Amino acid sequence: MPEDVLKQAAAEMLDWQGSGMGVMEMSHRGPDFTAIHQQAQADLRELLAIPEQFHILFMQGGGLAENAIVPLNLAARMGKTSANARADFVVTGSWSQKSLQEAQRYCSTALAASNQESGHTALPMPASWRLSPEASYVHICSNETIQGVEFHELPDLRALGCDAPLVIDFSSHAASRPVDWSRVGLAFGGAQKNLGPAGLTLVVVREDLLGHALPGCPSAFDYQKLADAGSMFNTPPTYAIYMAGLVFRWLKDQGGIAAIEAQNQAKAALLYAAIDSSELYVNRVQAVCRSRMNVPFFLREERLNQAFLAGAQAVGLLQLKGHKSVGGMRASIYNAMPLAGVQALVAYMREFEKTKA
Ligand code: PMP
Repeated sequence: MPEDVLKQAAAEMLDWQGSGMGVMEMSHRGPDFTAIHQQAQADLRELLAIPEQFHILFMQGGGLAENAIVPLNLAARMGKTSANARADFVVTGSWSQKSLQEAQRYCSTALAASNQESGHTALPMPASWRLSPEASYVHICSNETIQGVEFHELPDLRALGCDAPLVIDFSSHAASRPVDWSRVGLAFGGAQKNLGPAGLTLVVVREDLLGHALPGCPSAFDYQKLADAGSMFNTPPTYAIYMAGLVFRWLKDQGGIAAIEAQNQAKAALLYAAIDSSELYVNRVQAVCRSRMNVPFFLREERLNQAFLAGAQAVGLLQLKGHKSVGGMRASIYNAMPLAGVQALVAYMREFEKTKA
């Protein structure tokens, strides 16, 4: 979270703008929260240049719930039923793998492409994807948080002869760069990386993808019902929406998405250059698809892992331990991480290599 946002939330905690109550105490249908909610939506639409024909839904359940909610809503497009609904998946790491497995509970699935052979260090070229004309949608994870693999350009399915909508799980790089909405049917993500606190899930969905929910889809997860109710089908995660709204305003103050993207590029370039120029650290992801948000790296001498983490903690560099499934280290350098934070990490890494390795 940007520090300025946390400070503002703290200042408004007990009394939001003279209303005599905190945001958590407001009726979600009252005028104060309605204003907060609408402003957050409008700011996000402006920031990400989300076209009119897309609905912005503020949901709950996180990215993993969307792994079920997406097939429940989209698999039965084109007049399909649960018996013949089908979706294509491109598996490029742990999160898209989970999405595929979860979708199998609601429709049949096909693996259109995978980067398993490369150990999730490269992206399969879209031209090589085996896309089915029967698929109701094509799913990708546009930034694999654990493996640190990012689509720097979203695939153009139409250019590949595929009319199915592209679904992107952009949980871990939403609002870090612009989105080409002409290539996307639906984008979803948990808020807790770049957008706000956990508890809020963002879904941006094209109008024509509403209204196809399978009969078993819970009403609270039916995109059509949520869109009709302006994300107020039931009580939304009000405080998380308020916090996300503050983050959106902060992003606008930074100069918008283009400015934050430039900053993210600079941060990532600095860190990858430090890794690549060292004898101790290594990142094996192909340069063209290295994540600008999540930078996994390994110490060539694994016996130094604990000392590296302990030394980092001692100088205030926290949460650098890699995901348990891959080990090593991971620096998550989301929007709110300033350039100075990455500079401090790089300085520490150089010092550690010089003195300990
Ligand atoms: N997708 C991606 C790309 C993620 O990074 C995560 C969480 N790290 C998830 C899905 C799961 O999100 P949640 O914990 O909000 O369900």
